[in-house]
Amino acid sequence: MGKDTFVHNLEIVRVIACLADPNKIRFTANFDRDVAETFPYLNAILPGAIYNHPGKTLTLHRDGRLLTIYALKVEAAKIENRDDAQDVVRWIVGLINECHRKRATIKPNFERRERLGVIDIVKLLPGTNCKRCGQPTCLAFAAFLAAERVSIMICTDIFLSDYSERRKELITLLKASGYSVPESFV
Ligand code: SF4
Repeated sequence: MGKDTFVHNLEIVRVIACLADPNKIRFTANFDRDVAETFPYLNAILPGAIYNHPGKTLTLHRDGRLLTIYALKVEAAKIENRDDAQDVVRWIVGLINECHRKRATIKPNFERRERLGVIDIVKLLPGTNCKRCGQPTCLAFAAFLAAERVSIMICTDIFLSDYSERRKELITLLKASGYSVPESFV
């Protein structure tokens, strides 16, 4: 990489099973520098990106993979395996460096463009269809949640200890995508 390269390293520091799909993995990787200044430019060139400017996060779907880029790290889910994880890391570093190199030609976009998909949310709900939220199914609740017409606090079952990992993943996704989430919900 040249001396004008913006990001030199994105190191995978944690790999665990993917909650949304047990046959896949998720990983956390740390940047060697703060990359948040590139987000408005990435948001301008990536169709379907979910950008949260105040929260400094950018969420992308890429070939079924879910990637959330923070200022100093990446959280990736639905990754095939460790080789796939390395491919994703190389892709992100290349994307950010290319975007940074061309930033003078890109008009930055500070707007959040999309809400979360219902399917992304429903996979992380308990799936019991208990109706305690007032909806007939978790899918129906997910649709209301995606549209920001209901708070995640209404789903009582997700606060059970059995769902603590799902809860953490859902909270990460909601926060990363600019949804309002009470600080107590962690
Ligand atoms: S309360 Fe939660 S688990 Fe029960 S139906 Fe609603 S979303 Fe599903």
